[in-house]
Amino acid sequence: MRILAVELHRVAMPLVRPFETSFGRQTARDVLLVRVRTTDGDGWGECVAMADPVYSSEYVDGSEAVIRHYLAPALLAAQEVGAESVAGLLGFVVGHRMAKAAVETAVLDAQTRAEGISFGEYFGADRDAVDCGVSVGISSSIDELLAEVDGYVGEGYRRIKLKIKPGWDIEPVRAVRELIGELPLQVDANTAYTRADIEHLGRLDEFGLLLIEQPFVEEDILTHIVLSAAIETPVCLDESIVNAEVALDAIERGATSVVNIKAGRVGGYLEAVRVHDVCAELGVPVWCGGMLETGVGRAANVALAAMANFTLPGDTSGSSRYFAEDLTEPFELVDGRLAVPTGAGSGVDVRADALADWALRPPITLTA
Ligand SMILES: [Mg+2]
Repeated sequence: MRILAVELHRVAMPLVRPFETSFGRQTARDVLLVRVRTTDGDGWGECVAMADPVYSSEYVDGSEAVIRHYLAPALLAAQEVGAESVAGLLGFVVGHRMAKAAVETAVLDAQTRAEGISFGEYFGADRDAVDCGVSVGISSSIDELLAEVDGYVGEGYRRIKLKIKPGWDIEPVRAVRELIGELPLQVDANTAYTRADIEHLGRLDEFGLLLIEQPFVEEDILTHIVLSAAIETPVCLDESIVNAEVALDAIERGATSVVNIKAGRVGGYLEAVRVHDVCAELGVPVWCGGMLETGVGRAANVALAAMANFTLPGDTSGSSRYFAEDLTEPFELVDGRLAVPTGAGSGVDVRADALADWALRPPITLTA
């Protein structure tokens, strides 16, 4: 198919509660959506870059600029575009994986809608629903944390993940473990620790955690190897895993025994499937991370998480975890699970009224 136009939409979606990680606090989600208009129909992709470059080097204004000035013109200039050719067409741009993922997903959505197949079918998913976990931000007090976790347990979530940072780790984890009993529990440090903290992190072993996620900076594979050898809790890389080759290297060197897969971080769902496959071959379980996606991104994540080697619950929460109202039909938890959309493409539709109501500015339309 040919790409006739690329539209860039920006919306601000108020969060039901501020989300705090070791990097800071967010009260609204500033979302960039990409719509491609093609000779075969339209498709949507969501960019997961955050408003500020504090979680990753990418941030939403930067993603918008790189799509506008480099990625969209490259797609518009190509005679023939398919999801499988997007990475090659955009490969001349270094990095900017979240921006590339949004563009590739929009093309994949248009292509699979035209072919009448769902994302789940395209990825080779083998389940019709996925187990859901929930990611819980840093609270202002342990009491507040316990109240929030208790609410999620009541909603049926099958796994709790706590964000931790120095000064907010052992005691909150202990309190939550006491509250939830045997329910699966894991922690995410978002790179907040250093090699000097290895002994301290070993104190988490007594809580029987599923894993500890990304305690050290993303470039530092070596300290994760040292930690993996020093503690019992499995170490899981997130930010470090930027493609399938890095995943293979980190696994073979003993830095990670579980992998968090985020399509935005690895440049798109096609690469995410390759990361899944590499991990499956090596017997390493994976799970699907989350980036506060709207229904557009959530639909694709749920389809990805339905692949065979996604054996741990993902951060694929219901829409209501983040938003009072979603941009698409809402994702609702049933018995701790989300149904994998079955319609063609992502299987969800962007609500034109919501898109207009929450728009930060009129859409930008780029044509050949
Ligand atoms: Mg993480």
